[in-house]
Amino acid sequence: MTYQYRILSQSEEIQSERSLAEFAAQVCCLQLRIDKPMVRFIDERADGFINFKSRVDGYCPPPGKEIFIRSGLSPAALVNTAVHECRHAWQWQTAAWRNKDESFCEGDAKTFTHEFWADHSRSGYHAELMGILGDIKVELVKSRFSHRQAEIQKFWIKPGQVNCWPPNVEFS
Ligand SMILES: [Zn+2]
Repeated sequence: MTYQYRILSQSEEIQSERSLAEFAAQVCCLQLRIDKPMVRFIDERADGFINFKSRVDGYCPPPGKEIFIRSGLSPAALVNTAVHECRHAWQWQTAAWRNKDESFCEGDAKTFTHEFWADHSRSGYHAELMGILGDIKVELVKSRFSHRQAEIQKFWIKPGQVNCWPPNVEFS
């Protein structure tokens, strides 16, 4: 038994799916520190040319520059799939992970997806999920910023030192 899929054209896409998947991928890749892969949608069709041995919600082929998500998922399943496939994109793009076996990578993607949502409980509505993703993005940016600020302050502003950049430059 094979399951056949085809890629949706842009005009066939559902706008709410596109916006949710894009935002999930954007926030997730900010965390993973990779460029966001292209997001494409697929559906199951007898004349589809992409074949799988079982039904899939998504997939990410090497080299991890594109992720594919099945259209028609619930908003909650859609964001989980986007996050899961972005982790596979990260695996393909990370040299140390490229040759790991499939079940190991699958387990890692599942764990990552679970941890991505941290303590954010979610009932699964589109607007709610967009809000939670926004919160996660703000937390990420804030923690990066405060980390960087601490790094700069370590050697930038010292008591009795001139407040300048680059540090320790002699001015004549
Ligand atoms: Zn997977």
